[in-house]
Amino acid sequence: MTKFLLISEDSGKEEVVREVFSTDEVIPCVDETMIFDILKVEEPDIVIIDGDIEVLDLKPLCRKIKQFPVVILLILGKKEHNKDVTHNINLFIKAPIDKKLLAATVDSSLRTRQTLLKMTKSNQELAASLYQLNVLYNTSSQLAGSLDKDKLIKIMIEGIEKSLNFELSCTLIFRSEREPVLIVNSLYKVSDRLLEALKLRAILSYKSLLSDPPFDIKIGNLKIEKNIKHNIREYDFSILRFDNLFAPIMLNDEFFGFTEIYREAPFSTEDATVFQTLVRQVAIPLQSASFTQELKATNRKLQKLERLKSEFISIVSHELRTPLTAIKNAMDIILSGKAGEMTENIEKFVSMGKRNAIRLSGIINDLLDISKIEAGKMDFKFELMHVEPVIEYVKNNLTEVAKEKGLDIVFTPSEENVEVYADSNRLEQVLTNLVSNAIKFTTEGNIEITTKVVNARELQYDHCFEEDIKKLQGNYLQVCVEDHGIGIERKDLNHVFDKFAQIENSLSRKVGGTGLGLPIARQLMEAHNGAIWCDSEINKGSKFYFVIPIANDKSNFTMIRKQLVQQARSNGSTVAVIKIKSTNETIEKLLRENNLLNKTYMANSMIEKEGLMTTLSLILMDGDKPSAEFLHKKIDSVIEQNKDLYGKCDIMYSYEIEGDTHEKDSYSG
Ligand code: ADP
Repeated sequence: MTKFLLISEDSGKEEVVREVFSTDEVIPCVDETMIFDILKVEEPDIVIIDGDIEVLDLKPLCRKIKQFPVVILLILGKKEHNKDVTHNINLFIKAPIDKKLLAATVDSSLRTRQTLLKMTKSNQELAASLYQLNVLYNTSSQLAGSLDKDKLIKIMIEGIEKSLNFELSCTLIFRSEREPVLIVNSLYKVSDRLLEALKLRAILSYKSLLSDPPFDIKIGNLKIEKNIKHNIREYDFSILRFDNLFAPIMLNDEFFGFTEIYREAPFSTEDATVFQTLVRQVAIPLQSASFTQELKATNRKLQKLERLKSEFISIVSHELRTPLTAIKNAMDIILSGKAGEMTENIEKFVSMGKRNAIRLSGIINDLLDISKIEAGKMDFKFELMHVEPVIEYVKNNLTEVAKEKGLDIVFTPSEENVEVYADSNRLEQVLTNLVSNAIKFTTEGNIEITTKVVNARELQYDHCFEEDIKKLQGNYLQVCVEDHGIGIERKDLNHVFDKFAQIENSLSRKVGGTGLGLPIARQLMEAHNGAIWCDSEINKGSKFYFVIPIANDKSNFTMIRKQLVQQARSNGSTVAVIKIKSTNETIEKLLRENNLLNKTYMANSMIEKEGLMTTLSLILMDGDKPSAEFLHKKIDSVIEQNKDLYGKCDIMYSYEIEGDTHEKDSYSG
C-alpha cells in the first residue's frame, strides 16, 4: 500500500488525495520537526507539498526532504516559487488539481521509484558479493602462503569476519594430537558462564561430528584462547539465540576441527555459501601443515638416531680396538717364538688368527672413520706436498700382496712436478683402498697407477658422477688406479661409493670387505676439495680416478684458502682478516660460511693489540701489494721476536695490481 505524507493546511487537498488514491494511508502534517520524524519512522513513498502553504519556508524544507528516498510532488498554486524550490522536487502539478493527472503522475513516478529502489538493492547486493569474492580471493592467496597451523586458522577466521561480520566465533582445533584448543573471537567480552556453555557446546559438537572420536575432550583439558575486540559490553547467554553458522574443517575423511559463528542479523544462503567455502579452503593447507610438522618431527628423530648411531659405533669401535691390539700383540709374541717352541700346526693356526685379527682391526678402523666423518669430527693435517712419494709408499706396501696373486703394480708419474695441499695419511688411506680393491678384483694383468695434471673442464666421467664433478674448477692433479679385473656394471658405478655397498657378484662376497672403503674415500676427497669416481667395463677392468686441486694454481686459490680455514677451525684457532685497503668479499664470505668471522681487524690495530696473535693460526690479508708486503714483513718480525709466544702462524695475503686481483700465499712460522 502506498503511503502519503501531505504537507498542506488545506483540508480540501487531503480529501482529494484520499479520493484519488482511495486510501487511508495519508498522513497530513505541517509541523517541521514532525515531518522529519514521520519521514524516518513511517517511511512514506511520496510527499505531496502544497505550494501555497504559509507556515513553512519551502526552500530549506524541500532541500532537507530530498535527502530521504521519497518522491516529492509540489502543487503549484498562486505563490511564485524560485528555482531553489523546484530544483529540489521530483514532480509538480498545477492547482486546481486535475484528479486524473494527479493519479497518472503519482502512479508513474512511484513505478519509476520502485524500479530505482530495486536497482539500488541489486547494486548493493552485487557490491556485497564482490566484496565477499574479494575476501575469498585474498584469504585463499594468504592461506596458500603459510604452513603454520595457527596462522592458517587465524587467516580463515579473519576472512570469515571480514566477509560476514560475525559477533562471535568459536573454532576448535588440535594444536597437537592431544591438545584441543577452542579459539573464541568476540566483538565484546564473554561472560564466564557463556564461556562454559561454549566449551560444552564445542565438546558436544565434536562428539556428534565423529562417530568414533580419537580423543576424549573434557572441559578440563580444553584450552581457551580468547580474542576480544572491545571491553565496553559483555555477551551472555542471549548470544546463543543469534543466528549461527557451523562448519566442520575436514579434508576427505580427515578431521581438523570446526568453526561456528554467531550474528544478530540473520545469515542469507549466500552468506552460508561464503562461510562454507572459506572453511573448506583452509583444509588443504592445514593438511600440508600437518605433513610438514610430521616430516620435521621425523627428521629430528632421524637426525638424533643418526647421531646416536655414530656415537654408538664410535664408542663400540674404541672399546673393541684395545682388546684387539692386545690379542695381536700376544699372537706376535707367540709367532716370534719368545713364548716357547711351537709345532707347525700351532703356527699355522696362530697365523690364521693374526690375519683375522688384522682384518677385524681394518673393519673397526673403517667403522670409526665413517662415524667420525659423518659426525664432522675427522681431523685433517693439510700441508703442501707431492703425491708421488705417497703413491710409491702404498705401492711398496702392497707389492707383496699383489705378487701373491701374480700381479705387478706399475706406477707412471706425470712429468709435471706439482704440489697439492693435502693430508698425506688420508691420501695414503684412499690409495691403499683403491690399490687393494684392484688387487682383490683382478686375477691377471698389471695394476697401473698414473698421475697427470688436468683441468676440470677436460674431465671425462659417466653422468652419474656429475653432481660430484661439476663443482670442480681450475687445475687438478689426477691419480688413476687401473686394473684388468672383473669390472663393474654401468648401473653399479655410482653405487660402489654407497655405504656398505658390495656389488652382487660371487667374487665380492668371496673376498669379503665392509663396503666402507670407497664411501670413506669419497668423503676424504670431498674434504680435499677434490672428487673421486670410476669408469669400468665388465670383465675388462676398472679405472678409479681421484683429483686434488693443485696448490700453486691461481684458479684454486679460493679452495686452498678454504682448506686453510677448515684446518684452522679443526685446530680450534681463531682466524682473522686484516683489512688493509678494501674488504675482500670472497674472504669474508668464506669466513662467514665457516662461522669464523670472529674478528676483522684494521692493519695497525692488529699488530698493536698485544697478545692478539697468540690465538691465531691463520691470517688472511687483503689489500694492495706494498701495504700487504709491508705488513707481512712486520708481522713476520713480530712473530720472529716472540717465537715462544706465537708458535706457528700461517700467513696468507692477497693484493691488487692495476685493478687486477693477484693472490699470493706464503707460509711463515
Ligand atoms: P670393500 O671393503 O667391500 O672392498 P669398497 O667400498 O672398497 O668396500 O668397495 C665396494 C665394492 O665395490 C666392492 O665390494 C666391489 O663390489 C666393488 N669394487 C671396488 N673396487 C673394485 C674394482 N677395482 N673392481 C671391481 N669391483 C670393485
